Amino acid sequence: MSKQLNRRTFLTQVSAATIVTGLSSFPFISIAKSVNQQKKLGIALVGLGYYSTGLLMPALEQTQHVKLVGLVTGTPEKAKKYGEKYNIPKENIYNYRNFDEIASNPAIDVVYIVLPNSMHKEYTIRAAKAGKHVICEKPMAMDAAECRDMIGACEKAGVSLSIGYRLHYEPYTQRIIQMAKEKPFGEIFMVHASAGFRMGRPTENWKAKSLLGGGAIMDMGPYPLQAARYATGLEPIAVTAQQFNTDPKVFDGVDETTTFQLEFPGNIIANCSTSFASNVNFLNINAQKGEYGLNPFSGYGGLHGYLPNGETFDFPVMNQQANQMDEMCLSIMDKRPSKTPGEEGLRDMVIVDAMRKSVRKGGKRIIL
Ligand code: NAD
Repeated sequence: MSKQLNRRTFLTQVSAATIVTGLSSFPFISIAKSVNQQKKLGIALVGLGYYSTGLLMPALEQTQHVKLVGLVTGTPEKAKKYGEKYNIPKENIYNYRNFDEIASNPAIDVVYIVLPNSMHKEYTIRAAKAGKHVICEKPMAMDAAECRDMIGACEKAGVSLSIGYRLHYEPYTQRIIQMAKEKPFGEIFMVHASAGFRMGRPTENWKAKSLLGGGAIMDMGPYPLQAARYATGLEPIAVTAQQFNTDPKVFDGVDETTTFQLEFPGNIIANCSTSFASNVNFLNINAQKGEYGLNPFSGYGGLHGYLPNGETFDFPVMNQQANQMDEMCLSIMDKRPSKTPGEEGLRDMVIVDAMRKSVRKGGKRIIL
């Protein structure tokens, strides 16, 4: 099925899919009930690159609880193009110099940071100081120390901070998270997860340079790292990592490929990798009664689930980003904690910091 579904049809069909696959109760519940269902928050996108314009803007045409009202860009041509396309009032379009003036704009409730990774901290803190709720893309920041500063700034300003871990808001991943809790196939022994793509024109891409926070572990790395954590429902206690760079002139000061092994309590191991050199995307979980997982597991769509004994499971097509932003904005309106708060981003960066130590000094690093 390729047609986009409205929310009601989606929920009905998900229930049907749940019955067909014999899976137990579907965890996707919070969107249905809110005292604030009629209101839409106003959101401003900061950084109008690939993800903002290609995924988030179209998703915001489908959201029920948030609407696109503002843009922040350093490129006047983009301000004109997307301002006209989405009917953004001129007074809601900012650049990076006058961004702080957003504080006096009551139309903008939420600021979504979709900038290169090295800029996440600065713009999260500036948005918090402007009194706006913040959604920040993954990876949350350059390291754990930056994440702590961002969490502190949002706490001080009394605003919400969510990290754009979109998979937590879609049903395949929610099913894997639920299976970690219910263990329908017995104890989990081992997880394998890998996410990468073969990067075209890396010399022109900031994701292949260290200055702006590039590198495979920063770009696709959060997916296998997150998957290892949510597929086990546990936090790793140690990590060993290896990094590879076949052409340091092209991948400038960053990892082209990272492989890492996480150790969890109970002798559970996750063997993971991420790369700009390989088109790969799978999550495999080995448990007492067989293996299950998703292949692929982290795309914007086309995910597919499998269970032991050749069974499979699938859910209707939905817009991950629309769902993510709707749920995040409902939690803001209902004054509930975010499902993917700053602390979730911090947890990943603590592990990435330990991986970096393992690469530099060799051997296993304990995760504190
Ligand atoms: P991109 O390069 O396409 O967009 C970045 C934007 O930032 C551009 O519009 C660029 O003009 C702007 N920018 C402002 N100052 C800049 C500077 N000094 N140098 C370079 N660019 C500058 O990148 P993208 O793929 O849209 O990624 C943006 C963020 O979104 C990253 O953090 C990335 O990890 C994240 N992302 C998340 C997903 C997801 O599925 N959740 C997918 C893609 C990207």
